[in-house]
Amino acid sequence: MADVQLVMNAGSSSLKFSAYASHENDPILKGKVTGIGRAPEFSATGAQADALGELTPETPHGEIVQRVLGWLTAHPEFGDIRAVGHRVVHGGRDFSKPVLITDKVLQQLTELEPLAPSHQPHNLGAIRAVQGWKADLPQVACFDTGFHASQPKLNKMFGLPRALTDQGVIRYGFHGLSYEYIARVLPRHFGEVADGRVVVAHLGNGASMCAMNGRRSVATTMGFSALDGLVMGRRCGSIDPGVLIYLQQGLGMTPQQVEKLLYKESGLQGVSGVSNAMQVLQESGTPEAMEAIELFCLRAAQELSRTLPCIGGLDALVFTAGIGENSPRVRSGICAHLKWLGLEIDENANETGADLIHAKASAVQVGVIATDEEGVIVGHMRDLVG
Ligand code: ADP
Repeated sequence: MADVQLVMNAGSSSLKFSAYASHENDPILKGKVTGIGRAPEFSATGAQADALGELTPETPHGEIVQRVLGWLTAHPEFGDIRAVGHRVVHGGRDFSKPVLITDKVLQQLTELEPLAPSHQPHNLGAIRAVQGWKADLPQVACFDTGFHASQPKLNKMFGLPRALTDQGVIRYGFHGLSYEYIARVLPRHFGEVADGRVVVAHLGNGASMCAMNGRRSVATTMGFSALDGLVMGRRCGSIDPGVLIYLQQGLGMTPQQVEKLLYKESGLQGVSGVSNAMQVLQESGTPEAMEAIELFCLRAAQELSRTLPCIGGLDALVFTAGIGENSPRVRSGICAHLKWLGLEIDENANETGADLIHAKASAVQVGVIATDEEGVIVGHMRDLVG
């Protein structure tokens, strides 16, 4: 049976996975379970929707991971799983490079859960579920924070007392695996400009931007947590910290209620009252949905502008992830707020999904690149596991 490497991306309500034959860059199989905890749905290359058996809102994340592993092993044509690589959102200050999982590493990563309460427990839960399935299978963790380790200290600091900075209350940044992929392929799309001042906009359910120079991260819009920066599907993005004090002291909300409000009930969902999904908002057409889209675009342009002093200007802007790759309307809406930079897009190229969408006269090149976080993870896994 052929050897395969499995990549897992376990989120709060979804599990995505891809299987790779040794040394191949394209996966032989991709699958996902969405709606975990609400209405779970399974889909995978060539599989029936009920291949994992009955999935209910009560089916725990860990069991779903184990059912996926059971389903893969029941199909010898998918090969023999020899290693599993995971997307792990937070590596804290100790882990900037991918790492082989040991009990000690897992313990250290567990201690970081309060820094990413919506993501880290699910990422680590998938690692534990794989351990429960085959205890000695090599597993590798790749971190969303890792790519940002190159940032100068000043760009990571808050204006807080030094003791808190020393304790690690700093900007970490996320979506690093996506940025690592884009940084790698930038020269293919932009030639020499790739090594200049580039902002990459990763616009998915979670959304952030990374300002790069020489294809290294210099500044990013997400900070200490994955709440900061842009307005997202369900997260509020940057907010006056005074609002948090008011919610608790003025409105009597508990910290848990505030956490739920900021992570789950805000963003496009909260503003529109319709959906957290950009595609649904675009099709909905209610005034609130339109306003949510406009706010998303304005805040994205503002956040981009905030990173520019760190890289001294802008040579290229790249859109990626679900919204960035698929929504001409949002790309156009964001770029409309950036005309003051001499940035101009070719609306026809934008609508037809071209790779490069800037107008000839534009001072800034603008491109659309599909990201591949799984491809980055499998590469690191091969480096570490062989
Ligand atoms: P994540 O990986 O963070 O869960 P994705 O990168 O898959 O998210 O992006 C999901 C977002 O992309 C959702 O808001 C979804 O509505 C949006 N999206 C996907 N396809 C389209 C499309 N054709 N037009 C507009 N938005 C889209």
